[in-house]
Amino acid sequence: MKISEILKTGPSFSFEFFPPRDEKMEAVLAQTLRELEVLEPSYVSVTYGAGGTTRERTHDLVVGIDRDTTMTAMAHLTCAAHTRAELAAIVERYRDAGIENILALGGDPPKDLDLPKGELEYAVELVHLIREVGDFSIGVAAHPEPHPRSPSRESDRRHTAEKLAAADFAITQFFFDAEHYFDLVESLRAAGVDKPVIAGIMPATSISSIKRMSEMQGSEFPQWLSDKLHAVGDDPAAVRAVGIEEATTLCAALLEGGAPGLHFYTLNRSTATREIYANLGLSGAT
Ligand SMILES: Cc1cc2nc3c(=O)[nH]c(=O)nc-3n(C[C@H](O)[C@H](O)[C@H](O)COP(=O)(O)OP(=O)(O)OC[C@H]3O[C@@H](n4cnc5c(N)ncnc54)[C@H](O)[C@@H]3O)c2cc1C
Repeated sequence: MKISEILKTGPSFSFEFFPPRDEKMEAVLAQTLRELEVLEPSYVSVTYGAGGTTRERTHDLVVGIDRDTTMTAMAHLTCAAHTRAELAAIVERYRDAGIENILALGGDPPKDLDLPKGELEYAVELVHLIREVGDFSIGVAAHPEPHPRSPSRESDRRHTAEKLAAADFAITQFFFDAEHYFDLVESLRAAGVDKPVIAGIMPATSISSIKRMSEMQGSEFPQWLSDKLHAVGDDPAAVRAVGIEEATTLCAALLEGGAPGLHFYTLNRSTATREIYANLGLSGAT
């Protein structure tokens, strides 16, 4: 089913996975998929290693989930380091396998691989390429705290509005203060773009990893959250509990403020997502 159709039926709840690197991680993901399938997510998505590092594994996982589970799967695809012909071939293969949803991204290829630049500069060009290949529902990334490479907030908001106008929906980078999300949505609306903007959720369940990921993505790790987590910093279970509680509060505020969906960055584990689901009183939660 197309995600653009799913989004018409009310707030969506979706989960993101990455292709496992080895057999042990494959088993972990298989267990996670079983545990999260019962929550009946609106759809799930699978990341793509920029530059094509997970090309086959992303394809196989997306097609496998779509075929073997009750869940609708969306493929991430990044333009970095690819030629137009390579991207078209990847999209054609999804089309022929019956996949209807693609998240079109720029991508940040690992610097140490020294990959070629690629023929497409920006994600919006990939949106147009995908439209040429087939009848897909196409999502794009949006950055509530502007993208780190942007010269200014205004510039990033403008390019995001242009990109979303060409796509069907956006999913945001994670953030911890709801006001960043609402500011993004307001500027898109002011630019005349009213497509759904789904909020990306990353529960802060470990101080070191959330600090590292925030730095990488250009998301602020706010002082108030850092203070709350550090107050119980020598007890990992308590840190986790605070992270889940704060993520639940954020989700509730976003839904209350009209967010059309929540997208959970699961890191291939199910527990945090299940706990937040249960806290929010969502169906299927244990
Ligand atoms: C929900 C989500 C999922 C993601 N999944 C993956 C994944 O699977 N694999 C992966 O490698 N990465 C993934 N990323 C990360 C993403 O690839 C990076 O954030 C990347 O640096 C930017 O991607 P983008 O699609 O926003 O790029 P773009 O839209 O191309 O934007 C990149 C920069 O260029 C600017 N820009 C855009 N258009 C123009 C223009 N026409 N002229 C001038 N400047 C412009 C933007 O303002 C921004 O600063 C994901 C991010 C999100 C939010």
